[in-house]
Amino acid sequence: MALALPLRRSFTYSVPEGTPLPAPGIRVRVPFGERVLTGVVVLAEPKPVSGAVRDLLEVLDEEPVCPPELLATAGRVAQRFFASTGEVLKSVLPAKLPAAGVVRYRITQKGTFGMGSADPAERAILERLSPGESVRVIDLPGEGRNRHTAVRCLEDRGWIRAASAPRLHRTRSEMAYELGPIADAEAEGALGRSRKGREVLALLELLGRPASGAEIRVATGAGPAVLRSMVAKGLLRSFEQQRSSPEASGPARPSLVSPTSEQSAAIEAISAAIRERRYFPALLEGVTGSGKTEVYLRAIRAALDAGRGAVWLVPEIALTPVFARELKRQFPEHGAVLHSALSERERAEAWDRVRSGAARAVIGPRSAAFAPIADPGLFVVDEEHDSSYKQRESPRYDAREAVALRAKQSGAALVFGSATPSMEACNAAARGRLTLLRLSQRIAARPLPRVEIVDLRREPARPDEKGVPLFSRPLLERLGEVFARDEQAIVLQPRRGFAPFLLCRDCGYDFRCSRCSVTRTVHDRGRTLLCHYCGERIPRPARCPDCAGAVLEAVGAGTERVAERFAELFPNVPHAVLDRDTARRRGGASAVVEAMQTGRIACLIGTQMVAKGHDFPRVTAVGVLSADTMLHFPDFRSAEKTFQLLAQVAGRAGRGDTPGTVHVQTFHPGHPAIRRAAEHDVAGFAAAELEFRRAFFYPPFSELAAVLVSSPDRDRAQSAAEQLGKTLRSLPDGLRLSGPAPAPLERLQGRWRFQVLLRAVDRRAVLAALEASIPDRPPAGVQIAVDVDPQDLM
Ligand code: ADP
Ligand code: ZN
Repeated sequence: MALALPLRRSFTYSVPEGTPLPAPGIRVRVPFGERVLTGVVVLAEPKPVSGAVRDLLEVLDEEPVCPPELLATAGRVAQRFFASTGEVLKSVLPAKLPAAGVVRYRITQKGTFGMGSADPAERAILERLSPGESVRVIDLPGEGRNRHTAVRCLEDRGWIRAASAPRLHRTRSEMAYELGPIADAEAEGALGRSRKGREVLALLELLGRPASGAEIRVATGAGPAVLRSMVAKGLLRSFEQQRSSPEASGPARPSLVSPTSEQSAAIEAISAAIRERRYFPALLEGVTGSGKTEVYLRAIRAALDAGRGAVWLVPEIALTPVFARELKRQFPEHGAVLHSALSERERAEAWDRVRSGAARAVIGPRSAAFAPIADPGLFVVDEEHDSSYKQRESPRYDAREAVALRAKQSGAALVFGSATPSMEACNAAARGRLTLLRLSQRIAARPLPRVEIVDLRREPARPDEKGVPLFSRPLLERLGEVFARDEQAIVLQPRRGFAPFLLCRDCGYDFRCSRCSVTRTVHDRGRTLLCHYCGERIPRPARCPDCAGAVLEAVGAGTERVAERFAELFPNVPHAVLDRDTARRRGGASAVVEAMQTGRIACLIGTQMVAKGHDFPRVTAVGVLSADTMLHFPDFRSAEKTFQLLAQVAGRAGRGDTPGTVHVQTFHPGHPAIRRAAEHDVAGFAAAELEFRRAFFYPPFSELAAVLVSSPDRDRAQSAAEQLGKTLRSLPDGLRLSGPAPAPLERLQGRWRFQVLLRAVDRRAVLAALEASIPDRPPAGVQIAVDVDPQDLM
């Protein structure tokens, strides 16, 4: 039995007399100490157990909630990431998943007449079933096998009939809203101080179309009461509309494009493996705009045609609504979207459609790696290099490894796609562990954009702007040209908020968070200070708490300040911001992406999020305001991340018929990561970077685990970390240790943090060392978190 506890072991329970042995994958309720927990059966054996074992309390499903292959994978993933199987299962199973395969029975007319001649057990069942009502088998009188036999006999005689489980409710019509008749000037007064109200209006303006109540709630948090009052004030107009069913209706519309020869070769190689049930791990390395999506879609079709299923992982589904729509359009019956923004109920419904086999093509983020597809023939990992495939909280698994295990077990094709593959993938391809499938050309031989590196050290100051200007002259000139031609642009600034910190000009005080060792970020045009790590928000003080100085300056720029400056420079160009603050309002990100897609806005300003896989054909210019932010992170992946970000954002330009340009502003114009990205030189960058990784024994040439020891008490954290270091050093050779040392972020949310890094040539050695050194119970007041193959080391 796997229980969702942070304990890396399973638990044994016995089955009460008469209850049939639940199969692996079935959920059960069990007593655990004083509590009752839900667990998943991982192993069921018909053997007597000793007296100390407790009985399980209730069996929740009749059929497993996931196929056996998936259960096995969850176990192996847990093992490979030093996590608990129960926690892995819990993080992928929808919390409100209804009982799987629970059959309900209703009494037939024949049954009501036959009642008299039934045997006692059968009769009890018939009496429990009042006409018109359907009852779950486990709620019928009787026990275990006897009850099942009685039900079977009654069903054979036609006295009772299986009724399908009640469908989750689905109403036909819903309320929709559009902007109301009131004029802009009056709207201000009518809105008053309603913040939600403002967000609703902004959303509808951004979308340029009516939106359903549910959509508005998801994006802004405004509920029916807010909307009703806005309608009453004339701010909105409401009407009833047919609810758009989540399963797009209409016949399947296959793709109309004919694949290029490179696309065909890739599709053929993948499809052959799917048909032959052969494990086929491949790296689809295709420059930006080379048509990787078309390859995925055709491979999915091949999997469905072979009677198998497919899983398509994307880094962040809210940013790629187009992919989800395309999947639904091409596979209306079989497509399912496992969305992080779905409600628990919707998630459960989607899971159940997949589990029952109704849906066989799934698109979703990291957690969709565990979609309960019965016979998967294909796993696609789009933008394979994206670090969101690694979960940062417990259980710290990597979805890429999870699908690799599943593909191997199922004899499936495994396609990692990227224009800027991770060093792990580059190395695996070089060693032949991944078959390299290349798309070397953009569609229609469109050129890659011309990249100009702008040296910020030489950029003259401007009279109307303090310090180094946000927008350099070459970038400004180019943007002016682009907007004059009615084309679109993307501006990347890798920081959200108004400014990275506030500084007292008199004494240099920088307003650090009281609980974290970082400066607070300035938000709301300078009115708020927010800690990005613990979320604490305080109003901006009027004076320095240290020296009472009154000259406080917001230093540097985040997306908010960039947008403000953009509006000054281009007052007539509609723009929107895409960053975590927009995306936190669920649905907010897809509204911005949609506005860009439909041309409602001409400029997209944002963080890393603007670089992720979008296909906006009218974008002809990209500006990177600061390429240096990530370069200085104390992380061995900082050059790789910088290269990928620059190459990816550059790839958003010139995807239509007009060639694109990119301006990269930097203080380090000579840095290899920046230069190679400007030259679109993936192979050159990978060769140099892999050399560095090999020389310093970093992944992919070593297996790495980070152990983080933390406590509100600095001494306790330090001595626990030292103890751990001592144990590790006493282990046999073959292990390289770094630390214990204070983590780069030494204090977070009031906890002091110490880090131990361990590296070895293979994963087994790392796991064995962890097994031998991590205590089951950490010392009092101390937490120990293990991250195997961490994606960041802060
Ligand atoms: P990538 O993911 O490799 O960056 P996309 O899959 O977004 O590229 O494709 C870029 C554009 O090319 C898309 O608009 C897509 O519809 C189009 N496209 C893809 N394959 C073909 C093809 N064979 N013929 C014509 N257009 C294509
Ligand atoms: Zn903080």
